[in-house]
Amino acid sequence: MNDQNNFDERKMYQGNWTCSECGAEITELPFEPSGDRPLLCRDCHRQKMQKRNQRRY
Ligand SMILES: [Zn+2]
Repeated sequence: MNDQNNFDERKMYQGNWTCSECGAEITELPFEPSGDRPLLCRDCHRQKMQKRNQRRY
């Protein structure tokens, strides 16, 4: 058993989506898209996370 492998083997969902923020193509997601929610590419997602962190400032 090698538990450390589980960290790298994240389940990625393959597909063809569009980022609702910048319109970039999204080919894989770390979660299953519900269809209702707007999808964000990695860059936009990261930016949103950073904005949240900046509130601490
Ligand atoms: Zn984007």
